[in-house]
Amino acid sequence: MLAVADGLGGHTAGHIASRTALEAVDEVLTAERLASEDALELLAEALREANRRIRERADGDRSLHGMGTTGVVAHLSEDDTTVTLAHVGDSRGYLLRDAELHRITEDHVVRGLLGRSLSQALGTEPEVDPEAAEVTLRPGDRVLLCTDGLTDMLDDEDIAATMSDGNGERAACDALVEAALARGGMDNVTVVVAGV
Ligand code: CA
Repeated sequence: MLAVADGLGGHTAGHIASRTALEAVDEVLTAERLASEDALELLAEALREANRRIRERADGDRSLHGMGTTGVVAHLSEDDTTVTLAHVGDSRGYLLRDAELHRITEDHVVRGLLGRSLSQALGTEPEVDPEAAEVTLRPGDRVLLCTDGLTDMLDDEDIAATMSDGNGERAACDALVEAALARGGMDNVTVVVAGV
């Protein structure tokens, strides 16, 4: 299981929201459930549980009121033939195939007078409606999950080129973060890469 969460609502609260989300996802997505249940539904359920837990946590502490986080979670099937993703917010999932980047997720954002804001996030409303997708994998594919700290600074070609330099997954992550920071990235940059 791979997951990325990008906290909102102040540094401390955002950090607690993202951590709570990842804990919830980790607890729901047990090996046993992943092996026996429909992955699309299960990943969406994990994000709904994350939403519930963040709200529960915020209910008990005024300083955490309104905290939230994005969430994107991916699961590769046992035989590496399928990746299932679910997300809420604007953290993204991509497929890198033959040095080309394909975005799997669609950002949950709206553009208004005050600029760009999230149309949904984990923790900010009583209910969330996670979007889930399934993609068939081929040998050599890579799956990327990332926060907007990466995608605000690098375009698809930059990301694809940085990820396709022949290095391992860990090196690809490091290179992506370095490239985003070198462009003057001010936001936190979180990246997860899985190879097939
Ligand atoms: Ca961010």
